Amino acid sequence: MYDFEYHKPTALADATKALGGTDAKALAGGMTFIPVLKQRLAQPSAVVDLSGLGLTGISLEGNSLVIKAMTTHREVATSPVVAKAIPALAHLAGHIGDRQVRYRGTIGGSLANNDPSACYPSAVLALGATIKTTKRSLKADEFFQGMFTTALEPDELITEISFPIPAKAAYEKFPNPASRYATVGGRRRHVQTLHPPRHPQRHQLIARLAGQPPQPLIL
Ligand SMILES: Cc1cc2nc3c(=O)[nH]c(=O)nc-3n(C[C@H](O)[C@H](O)[C@H](O)COP(=O)(O)OP(=O)(O)OC[C@H]3O[C@@H](n4cnc5c(N)ncnc54)[C@H](O)[C@@H]3O)c2cc1C
Repeated sequence: MYDFEYHKPTALADATKALGGTDAKALAGGMTFIPVLKQRLAQPSAVVDLSGLGLTGISLEGNSLVIKAMTTHREVATSPVVAKAIPALAHLAGHIGDRQVRYRGTIGGSLANNDPSACYPSAVLALGATIKTTKRSLKADEFFQGMFTTALEPDELITEISFPIPAKAAYEKFPNPASRYATVGGRRRHVQTLHPPRHPQRHQLIARLAGQPPQPLIL
């Protein structure tokens, strides 16, 4: 690990200030970022720990489920609010990685990282969620720009994700046996129940994904 300054702000304005104008990086659950630092694959001048900002919590706002960025996968997986509003999202979170990863990893970190094998990006895209940041609100298809690439600016932080509650949704993945990351993942949303589309068989899903770029997309 290279040397860096460590900041733990308690206000969003201080966090974005610490990130601005330098090559500082945000730290959420550290599940991806800490190994990157340990392997000297990044050399930020400062690390801005987001854990003091109070960015955790799950709530219902009108017909939307709102999850704050620092909410862990375990909190999503075990939340009665999520289980009632979008059970498929609780199922998804409960099958991310292992127990340690679910206790530390956050929804904001997962989306900011935009790993093509991660589970949340496909959910955010398929459910038509909105990603709220310190600067703006972005629809999922504006947010994801390619493998490990998003519309986030260096000093911009995800603060919360708002999911419109669907009539039905489901998420399935072929997990890598070691990490549980998705080799292929698919999410289906039913916005109306009148003529629900059939769930595609797994081989149909694979066939449709063949040759597609490794990033979340709507088929
Ligand atoms: C062994 C293992 C297995 C895993 N299995 C799965 C799996 O099955 N499915 C899956 O989906 N994921 C999986 N993951 C990923 C994991 O769930 C985390 O979501 C992911 O590592 C990043 O989340 P984090 O909170 O740890 O973020 P960090 O590692 O702290 O940060 C990741 C990146 O996001 C940036 N960032 C973090 N928070 C914000 C924010 N609020 N605003 C802007 N930028 C931010 C950081 O600067 C950094 O660049 C696995 C990880 C490991 C280590």
